[in-house]
Amino acid sequence: MSIIINKLKKEAVIFCPLCDKEYAPANLKVVEQAGETILAHSNCPLCQGAVLSLLHKDFIGITLIGLVTDLDYEDAIKLKDQEVVREDDVLKLYELLF
Ligand SMILES: [Zn+2]
Repeated sequence: MSIIINKLKKEAVIFCPLCDKEYAPANLKVVEQAGETILAHSNCPLCQGAVLSLLHKDFIGITLIGLVTDLDYEDAIKLKDQEVVREDDVLKLYELLF
């Protein structure tokens, strides 16, 4: 799969929804890999906006889904294994604040 990441760094073009420009994800970094699926992080070199990309390889080819995030790469590494925030957690926080 690292061959695919290297190929993507050289050949792929990612659309940045923050500045409406396309860029080559030369700084694409793997956050986590599970089988043929990779969660990767990249920064738009124009606006510094960050994108988390889910890459999946199957017999058809490579599917890439991007999501704008304010997480930097280190945050993504730290938070990927955190527990899910539940509705009760949000309500408890609301009660503490108001
Ligand atoms: Zn951008």
